[in-house]
Amino acid sequence: MDPLQALPGTYDLLPEEAARWDRLHARVADFMARYAYGRIETPHLEPADLFSRSVGTDTDIVQKEMYAFEDRGGRRLALRPEGTAGVVRAFIEHSLDKQRPYHKLWYWGPMFRAERPQKGRYRQFWQFGVEAFGVAEPSMDAEQIALAWTLADSLGVVAGTLRLNSIGDAQCRPAYRELLLRFLTGIESKLCDGCRARLTTNPLRVLDCKEAGCRRLLADAPRTVDHLCDDCARHFDGVRASLDSMSVPYRLDPGIVRGLDYYVRTAFELDSPRLGAQSSVLGGGRYDGLVKALGGGDVPGVGWAAGIERVLLSTEEPALTSEPLHAYVAAFPETREAALAWAQTLRARGAKVETDHQGRSLQAQMKEGSSLGARYVAVLGPDEWGKGEVTLKNLESGSQEVLVLERAGSLIAPA
Ligand code: ATP
Ligand code: MG
Repeated sequence: MDPLQALPGTYDLLPEEAARWDRLHARVADFMARYAYGRIETPHLEPADLFSRSVGTDTDIVQKEMYAFEDRGGRRLALRPEGTAGVVRAFIEHSLDKQRPYHKLWYWGPMFRAERPQKGRYRQFWQFGVEAFGVAEPSMDAEQIALAWTLADSLGVVAGTLRLNSIGDAQCRPAYRELLLRFLTGIESKLCDGCRARLTTNPLRVLDCKEAGCRRLLADAPRTVDHLCDDCARHFDGVRASLDSMSVPYRLDPGIVRGLDYYVRTAFELDSPRLGAQSSVLGGGRYDGLVKALGGGDVPGVGWAAGIERVLLSTEEPALTSEPLHAYVAAFPETREAALAWAQTLRARGAKVETDHQGRSLQAQMKEGSSLGARYVAVLGPDEWGKGEVTLKNLESGSQEVLVLERAGSLIAPA
């Protein structure tokens, strides 16, 4: 029988890489707490309808990328392709808006999209993201963007540009849409097949096209920022003023329109030059109509999501390097049982400790301790152990001394 393999576009996370993930998670959780975000987790499986109604039926995500299927009971389900829809559903289902005037929530988990796998693009990939409900003021958009920027910086992400746009709202978009449609119709024959199809279904999405030919033509397209209504223009000015006062650098980019139907006003993305073709690390924007569209109240929202694999691909070591082992406890045949027990004591005191389970030579154990990055190797020689002593070798300095157990223990596991 052929050995079984992971599906294309999926991968296993082995201990070394998983440790980097854990450190990333700890750092992200710390930042979320600093900005007063509470954790939320929603199911990976949802009614497929949730995504067609929120992400939009004529988006690539729903049309081409969503893993949707019928379950045994004949229900249409989907593996979630993104995080916002589920969080909004939960927000409505638990009437969170009745409990407090506003909510800030963050999540971390796998997403699923049937895309062509390549570096930085997978079929099961992970995201962490934030959603803030109940605040229409531009300071929330700016705070979220500042959080993204500062967090990326703290993680050692080699960040490219933070690109910012405003895409208007229900007031100003219809007129802009007409203007854009007129422009696009003029160049219709030169657009790619996808864009020609989008011209009738969702012309705004044409601005998002990645084809080089379309990109060149679109450079002359009318820009949303030049056609904002007063309310949207004021909001956008507010976002920019707050970003300036927090010293967050950004560049205006009229091409950022985001992939979801319910985005209004603010849209932004952060890329990294380390990523090549899959350059976007995170992206987000404001979605004031989404809660209502999914059956909730008239609650504004704003959020972003970051791709975890892409964050790690664009992160400079050693920002997330591991903390070393405190000690390796090396034993002789006579002290193996004692080594196991003393390792247990040190671990109970909070130290990271490894010991030998295979009766290997002292030399092999010393080598293992060093390869695990241990700060100390503690050698339990039978004679010393009988006197309540241990030889402690400092692998950083190379120095070595015989110490009473208690003293050695407190060097290894400082209180
Ligand atoms: P792209 O333009 O690269 O397809 P997107 O606009 O589809 O990205 P979003 O839906 O905004 O991406 O998701 C937010 C983030 O999730 C992206 O910035 C990226 O880091 C990550 N991401 C999206 N799709 C994938 C994927 N298939 N594999 C890995 N990461 C992904
Ligand atoms: Mg995509």
